[in-house]
Order: sequence, then structure tokens, then C-alpha cells
Amino acid sequence: MDDAGVDGRRRDRLVADDDAVEPPTGFSERAVASDEGVYDAFAAEGPAAWRRAADLLDWERPYETVLDDGDPPFYEWFPDGRLNAAANCVDRHLDERGNQLAIRWFGKRGERRSYTYRDLHREVNALAAGLRELGVAEDDVVTLYLPMVPELPIAMLACARIGAPHNVVFAGLSAEALATRLDAADSSYLITCDGYYRREDAFNQKSKADNARLRADADLAATVVVDRLGDALDVSLGDDEHGYEPLVDAHDGETVDPVARDATDLLFVMYTSGTTGRPKGVEHATGGYLAHVAWTTRNVLDVRPEDTYWCAADIGWITGHSYGVYGPLSVGTTTVLYEGSPDYPDRDRVWDLIERNAVSVFYTSPTAIRSFMKWGAEYPDRHDLSSIRLLGTVGESITPKAWRWYREHVGGSEAPVVDTWWQTETGAIALATLPGVTPMKPGKVGPPLPGIDARVVDEDGEPVDPGEPGYLTIDSPWPGMLRGLREGDERYRREYWVEAEDGWRYRTGDGATVDEDGYVTILGRVDDVINVRARRFNTAELESAIVGVEGVTEAAVVGDGDGDIVAYVTTRSDVEPDEALRAAIGDELARSVGDLARADRTVFTPDLPKTRSGKIMRRLLEDIARGEEFGDVSALRNPEVVGEIESSVREE
Ligand code: ATP
Ligand code: MG
Repeated sequence: MDDAGVDGRRRDRLVADDDAVEPPTGFSERAVASDEGVYDAFAAEGPAAWRRAADLLDWERPYETVLDDGDPPFYEWFPDGRLNAAANCVDRHLDERGNQLAIRWFGKRGERRSYTYRDLHREVNALAAGLRELGVAEDDVVTLYLPMVPELPIAMLACARIGAPHNVVFAGLSAEALATRLDAADSSYLITCDGYYRREDAFNQKSKADNARLRADADLAATVVVDRLGDALDVSLGDDEHGYEPLVDAHDGETVDPVARDATDLLFVMYTSGTTGRPKGVEHATGGYLAHVAWTTRNVLDVRPEDTYWCAADIGWITGHSYGVYGPLSVGTTTVLYEGSPDYPDRDRVWDLIERNAVSVFYTSPTAIRSFMKWGAEYPDRHDLSSIRLLGTVGESITPKAWRWYREHVGGSEAPVVDTWWQTETGAIALATLPGVTPMKPGKVGPPLPGIDARVVDEDGEPVDPGEPGYLTIDSPWPGMLRGLREGDERYRREYWVEAEDGWRYRTGDGATVDEDGYVTILGRVDDVINVRARRFNTAELESAIVGVEGVTEAAVVGDGDGDIVAYVTTRSDVEPDEALRAAIGDELARSVGDLARADRTVFTPDLPKTRSGKIMRRLLEDIARGEEFGDVSALRNPEVVGEIESSVREE
């Protein structure tokens, strides 16, 4: 921790740093985390410091041991404690704020539904009782295949209440993907819906689920079907299929005692985004995960009960789990759930929702911010966004340009922007500034959080010098960490852990640099380094230079295998790409990275291939640049761009 921590001395240096942005004074004074001593306190106390996080929760049986590290790399947090995640997210708020809104939902067709904590309690209990009636027992895995409707967080909490781990599968994934995840999770219960709206059309989700059922090896014991579309789509239900609404109605008013779970018991299974290959089935334990999520929701996102908070990520990804459901509800705030896409019915949608609901904390991804920039500042600028107190971003590196745009046009040039680095596997935020304490540096995620022992090291595990590229690793366990992989212990060990002389080291798979102040810059995946002209270029650095050029919105850079650098570039809607722009890109690469970094080919394209969670799929772009066969594009959210990009590359 010493190397990476921000002690008083370093902080003085930071203030002098040209590109460091101090937290606004008014913000710091009121921030949840306002004491810079927290870094030193965590460093001094070791794992025991994480009691601060665990003590944000209600425990059915208090824990005595904080960390059992007797069998690395299988770590157990708060192993002798017992708790229930749903009780922590719902029941314990009833006395103090039963009538406060817990969830404000906005549907694609302008529908609205609101749930107070009391409403949520009623609905979660009724569904929990219904699931029990259908035979769901403790430790049975329930798969949820639902779009962004209130029934999704309700089902997660109902499962948690009866100790049944959930396995959420992003609603946009295919039948094949659902079948694989049903089998891998050994799940014989499914909750899905009739369908949902995609733009104007009613889309049949149930038939995808039926299809998955035929493909899966496992037999489903029961399926629950939410009626999202009403008369717009009628689906018929088989013998072992049950309508959600009748099931909940039949158990309305019943209460189900929350099952006390060991802190180390499975809370859920969640597959990674699949950016680098086959998704991995990550398992999260109940106690450590919830403690870490609650602590970061308060200390990093600065969320309090009186806020209206909006995490725009789909619950089908880890961000939606940790910061769309468990984080905000465990700290007792009001959380916004939005079903639509940011440009439907128009490009004012997001700003309109923030304005009308006086959203104070907004958390989204660089890919969304890049879309906002592409559409233009006039959309946010014509709304009153003065309710915003803090902005967050996660998922990919954010360029300084996008960071500044976000702060200026959404944050009124005032709000802190926290760039948060974490993974499905880390469960919760691991690197970020503490917004009331630590200055921000646009484009750098910041130092590791207190208690996160992250370093940037070379092949031998030695810390690299400031500015030198290396591997981002975490040298000691942390509470939100995965407890294992669905694919087994051996795969878990092999995928993530290196045994070093002084202990086990977790490999994040990301490349990074660290500066003199301990601030980390993420360079992308370890595999995203291009070796050309006897130099190693990292894609993030080249891409950041390219998007610095006026008119450019997105860039992805890959090597073509023959020593050439290929840049794929998209431009703002009102900019026509031409030779002058191409030349400007080349000059900017030469200026900010070096003459050798000029792209050999610059391919203008209307869009870049993205995963369903919105990340650029460089692997595919590399195949196209190399002229190789590329595999399955079904994991993409926009498979149609692939053909266009291919023909542009051929024209080059
Ligand atoms: P897979 O592991 O299946 O290839 P994935 O890594 O994209 O997919 P996630 O767990 O959703 O799946 O994403 C975690 C990754 O996202 C991190 O390893 C990192 O590469 C990237 N990431 C997350 N937050 C940031 C951030 N703030 N800055 C830069 N990169 C980030
Ligand atoms: Mg990953």
C-alpha cells in the first residue's frame, strides 16, 4: 500500500500538478469520505480495516474473523458471520424510511412505476413465498433473463431472501448464450418475460427462452414469466410455467423470514463481458461482496439516503448488480431504473430524466459518454442539470477529452468525476479517487482505494518505474473479490493467480502505468499492446491521441500482424471525414506519441464493433486488419457494422 497510497506529502505534490483537479471545496466539506487519514488508517490496520465496510451492514450473527487466508488463493471474508443480503437492502430500512422511494422505474413507452421501501418489502416477500411454493430451496440457482424492469431487482432480492443464488443473463443475449449459462450454473429455475419493446416493436423474449430450454442439457423445474407487454404480446404457458403476476398476487401480504447465510455462501453467479474471449462464470460471496459494494457506494460515489441516484448500466452486467441494485439499496437511497436506450424516443431522454428527477449522482460508461459527445452538447446544455453533485464512469478508459466534456456539460464544470476501475471479478470498485479527498487527474483512474493492494509490476513482479508500462496486479485479497469460478478451482487459480515468494498475486489482465503520485493509467488489456517498428505501443495511448483531434469521437487501434498500425475512427455526426482529417490524425499521433506512431492505415467507419456491455471489440478489428477469418459475431451489439468495416478496409 505504501508505494501506491496518497499520504500527506504526496498530496502536496499533487496540488502542484498541472493536470490535477482539486475536489470542489463545497463538495469536500460535505462528502461522505472527507478525511484523508483513511489511506493511512487502512495501511496501518491491514485487512482488519475492512471492518469499516462490514459494519455498514446488519449481521444476523456478528463475525469475529475478518479474513481467513489459510488456504490461498481461496480467501474467506468474515467467515464466521451470517447475514442476509435482501434484509440488508430492504428490511432494515423500513423503520427509518419505509415510505421513501427505493426504486423509480421509467419504461420505454413513458410508463412509470415507483416502489417505496415498504412496497419493495411487500413485493420481494410475495415473490420469495411464490418461489418457495414452486420448490426453490436454499442454494438452488435461479436464472433471471429479464430486461430493465422492476421485476429484475425484485427477483434478485427475492432469491437472496431465501438463500437461492441468482444468475442474471443479459436479456439481449441469444438463446444459445442462455442455454450455456443455465447449464454452467446448474440452474433449474428461470424467471423471464413475455417480451419487451425494442424501439417500436414488441420483441418476443419468451420464444428465445423456449429455444434455450430445448438446447440446454438441464431440465427446468419451473419457469416464471413476467407480463411486460400486456395485450401487445400473448404467450401461452405450459404446465411448469407460471405467470409472475398471479404468483405474486397469490402470496401478497405473506412474509418470508430472510435466510441467514454464511458470509462466504454464494450470493450470485455473473458472467464477464466476454471482451477477451469466452466469458467466465464469476461467483460472489454474500458478506464480503455486500460490504465492499456498500462501502464504495458511500465513499466513492458519495451516495446517501436522501439522494436520487442513477446508475445507467444494465443489470445484466456486474455494474448493474453492484451499483444499480445492491449498492444503492444497501445504503438506503432512491435509485432510478431506466428501461430504454439513451436516444429513445430522442436524444434528450437522459438529460430529461436527470432534470425531472433531480438526479444527484449519475454513473455511466465512456461508451455512453462518447455517444453523447457525438450527438452534440446542445442536448445536455438545454437542460437544467444543476442537481448533479457527482459523476462516475466505468468500463473502459476515458480520454481526458471525454472526461472534460462530461464534467463541463453534465457536471456544470463543478461536479467531481470519479473514474472507477474494477472488474466482474473484483465485485466492486478497486481503483478510483475518493472524491472528497483525492484530487482527480483526467484520463487517470487514480490511486488504489484504501485497503486495495494494487501495483503495476514487470514480468518478474517487481514494481515498474513511474511512466513505464507494466501489469496491474493486486497483491492481497479484498472483500469484494470473487470466491471462485463456475469453471472450477483449477481454472480459477490458473486464470487469475500467480504464486510469488511473498504470497499470491492476483492478475487483473490489464496493462497500466503509474505516475509519481501513485495514480494509475489503464492501458487496456495486456494483449492490447501493439509491437511494431521495434517498439511497444499501447492502444489506449494512441487512441487517446486520435480522439484529441477535433471532430473525432471514437478510435480503435490494432496491429495488422505485418508491422502496420491500423486506426479505425468515427467522427461527430456533423463532420465528413476527409484527407485533411486523416492528415491531422497522423500529425497528432506523431506529436503526442512519436513519429513512429503514425498510423499506416486510417479507416473511417460509422461505428465500431461493441460488446453488449458497450466495449470496443479490438480482437475482431484485429482479425479484419489481418485479413483473417473472424469468428462468431453474435456477442456483438451491432454485428451489422462488421461488413461495412470490412469493405472500408478493402477500399483503403
Ligand atoms: P472478459 O473478462 O470476459 O474479457 P471484460 O473484462 O470486458 O470481459 P468486465 O469484467 O465487465 O468484463 O470488465 C472489466 C474490464 O473493464 C477491466 O479489466 C478493464 O479492462 C475494463 N475497465 C473497467 N473499468 C475501467 C476503467 N475505469 N478504466 C479502464 N478500463 C476499465
Ligand atoms: Mg475481464
